[in-house]
Amino acid sequence: MRHYEGVFVDGVWRPSERRRELVDPSNGRPFATVGLGGAEETNAAVAAARRAFQEFSETTVAERLDLLNRIAAAYEPRMDELADMIAEEMGSPVSARVQVEGPLAHFRQAGKVLEAYDFETRIGETIVRREAIGVCALISPWNWPIQTLAVKMAYALAAGCTVVCKPSEATPLGAIVLTRILHDAGVPAGVVNLVVGSGRTVGEAMTAHPDVDLVSFTGSTEAGARVGQVAAQTIKRVSLELGGKSANIVLPDADVAQAARWNIQRCFFNAGQSCHAPSRLLVPRTRMEEAIDGILDEVGRIRMGDPRDPSTTMGPMVTKAHYDSVRRYIRTGLEEGATLICGGLEPPEGLSDGAYVRPTVFGDVTPDMAIAREEIFGPVLAVMPYDDEDEAVEIANESPFGLAGYVFSADPERGYAVGRRLRAGRVFYNGAPANAASPMGGYKQSGNGREMGIFGLEEYLETKAVFGFSERSRALPSLVR
Ligand code: NAP
Repeated sequence: MRHYEGVFVDGVWRPSERRRELVDPSNGRPFATVGLGGAEETNAAVAAARRAFQEFSETTVAERLDLLNRIAAAYEPRMDELADMIAEEMGSPVSARVQVEGPLAHFRQAGKVLEAYDFETRIGETIVRREAIGVCALISPWNWPIQTLAVKMAYALAAGCTVVCKPSEATPLGAIVLTRILHDAGVPAGVVNLVVGSGRTVGEAMTAHPDVDLVSFTGSTEAGARVGQVAAQTIKRVSLELGGKSANIVLPDADVAQAARWNIQRCFFNAGQSCHAPSRLLVPRTRMEEAIDGILDEVGRIRMGDPRDPSTTMGPMVTKAHYDSVRRYIRTGLEEGATLICGGLEPPEGLSDGAYVRPTVFGDVTPDMAIAREEIFGPVLAVMPYDDEDEAVEIANESPFGLAGYVFSADPERGYAVGRRLRAGRVFYNGAPANAASPMGGYKQSGNGREMGIFGLEEYLETKAVFGFSERSRALPSLVR
């Protein structure tokens, strides 16, 4: 069994007495152990980040840009290794390359944003400076274990912040390798620190720490609320990227079967364990048969199996506990009287050792059902009929979440008009891809932060108004180095 150290402080890996066993969810077998930190290691990591902050925050834009370029160059050759690692620790298939390609795109994009960003502007005679906020706690979930952390790291470093990272205890390996890559790329000691440990111990210790200036948290709405409460004691800035229950409105003028096929691909990508998953499909009541044809056709193409097999398109749930939770929702859907279109509780053939859940689609789902309201975070889709556009928008917005919204229509004007009415941080028209420069974040209980692009950089900046230097500011093109 392999062992990984999980505590990296001030440029050094620290051995830990406490260990956690990591289990391959595709077969239930333990394959590695990871060393865990606690409050003491968290304090040491924050102290190292604080010591490194002054110097790192005073680096020039050119120096930080060079660092981001070196990170991207060191990361790129390790993508196959990282894809294998994600397959092993969380069951996401190696065919899901975006899990490892996304982080590279974000390191590069952070560099482009940094290069063009105006850290100093003027309001009349006043100089307005944007400065690195300080020491940042970066807390990430298990479902996109590298990307969620890499985005935070990229923009925090671009801003000149120092960081203490805490990945999910269930999937720490991607973060460990990422930390090694950053170290190899020449990130100075103390600028990036890592403490693997549970949310309740390490996550809360980071959040409560008076020397942490910002917590950037991605995870469930429940844990995000707790982070907000704990952080409030020290008035630190909190950026939350939380859960979703996103709706896809297929308008009557769309190719309904094609939209339903796309929805299956998108919703069941990563076995449904994605915050943006369009897990509610809203279809005109009179067009339901076309939607079901598209759904069944696309579900028939899914290949469940060993995530290391390149032909596999759907792997297991991340852990046995999460598998149990998803199955509980399937049972709830059956009890609530939804119509099972495909899938269900029966384990997929030949895969009963792993945490595999069949791709499951419920029809005739009504807005009051738990499977329509709660984030299931597995391969479970709720198909909901509607009678007119207003009703569709009302159903879509009738959710405590507001992460993403999807619209399919043959008419861009109509699609845009519906998209404007959705209370969500991102709206996708006809399945358009997102781009790395655009903001990502949620409305309502899906969060209060924005990551990526200029908005992502600004999360890590403080704002300072400087008065009285008007003559000097006219003489100098910029006070920023
Ligand atoms: P989670 O249970 O909330 O955990 C997320 C992270 O927070 C983990 O590192 C966890 O540590 C830590 N944590 C838990 N309780 C904490 C606390 N009281 N204080 C500080 N940290 C704490 O979420 P998850 O199950 O890993 O991830 C799935 C959720 O993330 C879903 O709701 C999904 O929608 C959301 N998500 C959102 C986005 C987005 O951009 N909006 C992206 C991806 C995922 P341990 O697990 O190690 O205990």
